[in-house]
Amino acid sequence: MYGMIATWRMALEGVEAASELLKADADAGDALEKAIACVEDCEFYKSVGYGGLPNEEMEVELDAAFMDGNTLDIGCVGAVKDFANPIRIARQLSKEEVNNFLVGRGAEKYAQRHGFERKNMLTERAKIHYQNRVKELSQQQLKPYTGHDTVGMVCLDANAHMCAATSTSGLFMKRSGRLGDSPVIGSGLYVDSQVGGASATGLGEDVMKGCISYEIVRLMKEGKTPQEACDWAVRSFDAELRKRRGQAGDMSLIAMNNQGEWGVATNIDTFSFVVATAQQPATVYLAKRDAQGKTTYEKASKEWIEEYVQTRKAPAKLKE
Ligand code: ASP
Repeated sequence: MYGMIATWRMALEGVEAASELLKADADAGDALEKAIACVEDCEFYKSVGYGGLPNEEMEVELDAAFMDGNTLDIGCVGAVKDFANPIRIARQLSKEEVNNFLVGRGAEKYAQRHGFERKNMLTERAKIHYQNRVKELSQQQLKPYTGHDTVGMVCLDANAHMCAATSTSGLFMKRSGRLGDSPVIGSGLYVDSQVGGASATGLGEDVMKGCISYEIVRLMKEGKTPQEACDWAVRSFDAELRKRRGQAGDMSLIAMNNQGEWGVATNIDTFSFVVATAQQPATVYLAKRDAQGKTTYEKASKEWIEEYVQTRKAPAKLKE
């Protein structure tokens, strides 16, 4: 048995490539690194890796994390500039005894020393998106932070080894040096091969208030299915935030247990995700929250998937 679950449609090609590896008995860590690097390399996904949207100073600062569910090893990078695959740096850091979470210049020095590929991650497309957003912000009352999406994944291999990982350019127009939940273990991701794993996408500042990936794994450990754990954690935390703060940021969670069962929960209108298991090729689903706050999902139609690709690949134009 093997399986993988990932946030957002953008994970599809990576999950497809990883499930081929898993079918051939690859290790969960290798499959996961491959899948995330595939999303990082794609210039059309503007919230992860190459082509990721820049911060308010027009610099692309990337965050990523890797966790091994057998050893509980963790590796995380934050605000890294000019390296092609933050996930590879994070995974390498997970092999260190200490100094597992490095940010900014320290992370870049480490990556340089270990020979990771350097790359200017700011594309012409991303610059156009940035300039358009600056214009929109001055013309309309838009929230500056609209526009984000982290790729988060949980993977189970045929030897019952589980790993989880994330990669993101974070919130659009974030401040220089800002970190969200994605590289933070327990918030953006958590995995324990004896139980299962979870990963988050959404407003990092709120996700971190609930350590919600860890919470989902804890609920699964208590006996909840991944779907029950996701529903419970997201619904109750969303309600708690609304009660205490009057609002709750976007939050979408995925989980898989060590039996390959999976679940999702969201507090937004459309959250796409991808699942592949030994029984099922990589499939895109669309989840939404119903009136009772329960998450429902269905397979994405071919039309939806095609439209997604077309809009992502449409030429970027500077707005007048
Ligand atoms: N969680 C990410 C962050 O706050 C953004 C996202 O998942 O969309 O940086």
